[in-house]
Amino acid sequence: MNILVVNAGSSSIKYQLFNMDEEKSLAKGMVSRIGMSGAIVTHKPFDRKEVKVSGEILDHIVAIGYVISILLSTNHGVIKDKSEINAVGHRVVHGGERFTQSILIDADVLSEIRNLIDIAPLHNPHNVRGIQACQKTLPGIPQVAVFDTAFHHQMPPMAYIYGIPYVMYKDYGIRRYGFHGTSHYYVSHRAAEMLGKPIDKLKIVTCHLGNGASIAAVKDGVSIDTSMGFTPLEGLLMGTRSGDIDPAIPLWIMGREELSLNEANTLLNKHSGLMGISGVSSDMRDIIDASGKGNTNANLALDIYCYRLKKYIGSYAAAMGGLDAVVFTAGVGENSSVVRQMTCDGLEFLGVELNQAKNQEAIGKEMIISSDNAKIKVLAIPTNEELVIARDTKEIVDKIGQK
Ligand code: ADP
Repeated sequence: MNILVVNAGSSSIKYQLFNMDEEKSLAKGMVSRIGMSGAIVTHKPFDRKEVKVSGEILDHIVAIGYVISILLSTNHGVIKDKSEINAVGHRVVHGGERFTQSILIDADVLSEIRNLIDIAPLHNPHNVRGIQACQKTLPGIPQVAVFDTAFHHQMPPMAYIYGIPYVMYKDYGIRRYGFHGTSHYYVSHRAAEMLGKPIDKLKIVTCHLGNGASIAAVKDGVSIDTSMGFTPLEGLLMGTRSGDIDPAIPLWIMGREELSLNEANTLLNKHSGLMGISGVSSDMRDIIDASGKGNTNANLALDIYCYRLKKYIGSYAAAMGGLDAVVFTAGVGENSSVVRQMTCDGLEFLGVELNQAKNQEAIGKEMIISSDNAKIKVLAIPTNEELVIARDTKEIVDKIGQK
């Protein structure tokens, strides 16, 4: 069974085709700059070099059509016929309270995902567009939605209710949902496998540090708390997002600078975080580089980033009543020994102790990077959200086949 995994953003679509009989990735790539001048498709078949093509790609439907044609192409393709794509798995950012697990998409499900645009205006519209494009391009092929929020659905109310009038939760669904669930799920399970212990006997903190960043407390295999909230804006300092902030600050700035709602949203989502503090870049590589060259604001941004991570690890150890392992994943977590070191420094009192050489060595690979005798294990694990999406999709499609 071949499964196409689709992650649709506002102007980009990431894709990966899996042969699920062997759990093997056949090809992956990305269409970027959709709807802008000079769209770019990067495509990498598993056994050949990456290719880059540019052209005009008007919308998500054209983009998916392009993806299918490159998967079928003589030179760069990996399948011979469209019918070799047996199902599509979609990453959907917000599943609200209705979707607590992956689900086969029908008209009712799609309409509910569309309804969630009300609370996820920055994310769900693009996911809906991706689903519709695949329905049009691959008619009759099962489509499955896998939600970023689903893994966090067992958080207790004390972790997900905010200190505002309860009626806001009842009327509008304002609560913590949490995101990056597929990644937190994957790396916590991989960590348990690497440690040779059952996941239901472990207390793990997982740090997903990409452009967006979040941290989760995974106790006995269940996410009991996580740093992103009603939207992906809360929590850790991110590339361009502020993370935790006094809620009065945006109100004050809006008053003083006469900002509209949209402008305030842009300020907090696009001009804050590493970018906003450093004025240099939202990319951690640039921040570390500038900090090394003596840029004090880049240095401050790096300090804040790691300090906040450290505080969350401590608070989640308290929330879980102990800690067995800390996992670092996604772009920064998988590659930056500096961030891992600065975050773990000072956590020795808990039993965290890095092995310097292993921490340096862990760049984009699965490794235990704590010292052999450390009470708390620290791991670097490349995330694989696409594989989780493909597995969930296969499970659902297999079930339909059995009916
Ligand atoms: P996304 O959230 O877009 O999926 P990724 O997980 O790919 O993001 O992470 C992207 C981020 O990873 C980049 O912004 C960059 O800051 C960071 N990154 C990648 N490689 C390194 C590295 N060697 N050192 C520090 N940061 C890195």
